[in-house]
Amino acid sequence: MPERDPVFRRLTLIGAGLLGSSVARVARERRDLAAEVVVTDRSVAVLDRVAALGFADQIEPDAGRAVAGADCVMLCAPVGAYAAIAAAIAPHLAPGAIVTDVGSTKVSVIRDVGPLLPPDVHFVPAHPLAGTEYSGPDAGFSTLFEGRWCLLTPQDGTSAVATERMADFWRRAGSMVEAMDPVHHDRVMAMVSHLPHLIAFTICGTADDLATEGEGAAATRPEVLKFAASGFRDFTRIAASDPVMWRDVFLNNREALLEMLARFTEDAQAMARAVRWGDASYIEDRIGRGRKIRQGLIEAKQA
Ligand code: NAP
Repeated sequence: MPERDPVFRRLTLIGAGLLGSSVARVARERRDLAAEVVVTDRSVAVLDRVAALGFADQIEPDAGRAVAGADCVMLCAPVGAYAAIAAAIAPHLAPGAIVTDVGSTKVSVIRDVGPLLPPDVHFVPAHPLAGTEYSGPDAGFSTLFEGRWCLLTPQDGTSAVATERMADFWRRAGSMVEAMDPVHHDRVMAMVSHLPHLIAFTICGTADDLATEGEGAAATRPEVLKFAASGFRDFTRIAASDPVMWRDVFLNNREALLEMLARFTEDAQAMARAVRWGDASYIEDRIGRGRKIRQGLIEAKQA
């Protein structure tokens, strides 16, 4: 038995991939997050894996039945699916329940989910800044959230008690919690997460294109793979991420992502100009800034 009462009596997770299965695992392991963990997913194959892996107290293929009686419902599917999920579960939510999520965008989630929820349900959007390039129920692990930030984006009028319960939940899962305005969240994430992924996907495509662009270049492809240790390898790790999840992130944080991409493109052009004109001090200065940022991350234990 846990030493303190669980935050929730019945937690329903919708989507049992990397994030959903990690929440289920930490909840099952600690027992002071939720007394009962219910898992639903649109995919029968995923639910079969959940049963085999044994991290749910109850598996329920029907989302409406899965949320009935839950005091916390957490959306853990790609953000593009949220509106349809919210419409399907809304009539079955218990009065007073908290609906929350783990989605990587927050403005779109508030837009898509908020208006569909009954007025007697509390909506506390959240984003744990924790993940890997792997996906699916086998990829999750109970320590995923340890030492990571979880950002909450409550709205004006969101119950402070409901927000604090979610903060308590994530702290018990090992995270540091902070509240943030959703628009600000999306701009920050566009810079620190969405743009780096866009660059990684793009650079892998560029390298792959080398293989099909004429004879001289064709010889380059095996060499890109053979000598990938030099920088390119780090991009391929990020670029291995789930295509559906990232498609949805890009499409649901369009403006902020395009703004950051425009700024990046300008800076890349400035670097190109410095290389062209042999501006050594500019190049050195930019590389030095990168080093400092990395050092800061190491000191903040976020590296
Ligand atoms: P994932 O491993 O691909 O898992 C998503 C799961 O949701 C899959 O099992 C998928 O089933 C299921 N699903 C899709 N549509 C659904 C629907 N309509 N109803 C019920 N289940 C549905 O993805 P993930 O990495 O866990 O990401 C989940 C959420 O976490 C996303 O919103 C993402 O933005 C957020 N997030 C991800 C990371 C990360 O690094 N991965 C970090 C922080 C936050 P199918 O396999 O059948 O499609």
